[in-house]
Amino acid sequence: MTSRRLLFVHAHPDDEASKGAATAARHVDEGAEVVLVTCTDGDAGEVLNPSAEAVTPEQMPTVRAAELAAAVEAIGFTRTYGMNYRDSGYHEDPADVPEGTFARVPLDEPSRDLAELVRKERPHVVVTYPENGGYPHPDHIMTYLVTMRALELAEDPGIDLPGEPWRVPKVYASTVFTAERVYALHEAMLERHGESPFERWLKRIEERPEPPPAPDALVEVGDWLERRDAALLAHVTQIDPDGFWFAVPRELEREIFPYEGFLLLRTDVPVRTPEDDLFAGLDLE
Ligand SMILES: [Zn+2]
Repeated sequence: MTSRRLLFVHAHPDDEASKGAATAARHVDEGAEVVLVTCTDGDAGEVLNPSAEAVTPEQMPTVRAAELAAAVEAIGFTRTYGMNYRDSGYHEDPADVPEGTFARVPLDEPSRDLAELVRKERPHVVVTYPENGGYPHPDHIMTYLVTMRALELAEDPGIDLPGEPWRVPKVYASTVFTAERVYALHEAMLERHGESPFERWLKRIEERPEPPPAPDALVEVGDWLERRDAALLAHVTQIDPDGFWFAVPRELEREIFPYEGFLLLRTDVPVRTPEDDLFAGLDLE
């Protein structure tokens, strides 16, 4: 049987831990080749964990690279690539994004690099972000745009890049806080613990003009939540072990909502949603 090949494209070090990490770990354990591409070095990140030691802006890229390496080890990615673009930082107004950062480089520059990797790795499934970035960080929106452009370039025989053209048959966006997941965990937390960390998220979901789309695929990852947690904790400067990411007890998450959700952006094969397997429908024999 052909080895299953899955490629994740993420914006910053730590996104691989917060979006689809347990799914990545599950596929590694099941024998797939699971490749990670990280677009930026995360150097605009600040220390977000109050219990972490201070880090100067000069030290930040090195620190974040070491954190990423530890998270990669926890998840078990087969191979990783860093595109090393400069982190744009979070800006509500796109006009504030600094020159020379990832979100402002000409689209085809990173897209060609990624297309070359796609031709080399020949993934059956690529996971990126939703068109709106999932949350409106300029680097997350750029990651979506770069991924979709790279897939076009990779499959086009007229594009002069190393490697044979390769068309990726299924493309997904990872989702984290879908309404279904948040409501399920919120209700269970209120019932068992009398309080929930999701009040703010629910308010945001309710304020949106349209509800966020329901996932097209729900991958069962109950046995891989510890690996995701280890990857999150590897990002010492970014993740507070007493904070939001760890506010729901693991046993409760495993019981109530042991899934990671994905939106289907494109498929060459017929699918029945919700899928429970990102490779469903692909003929990989
Ligand atoms: Zn990010």
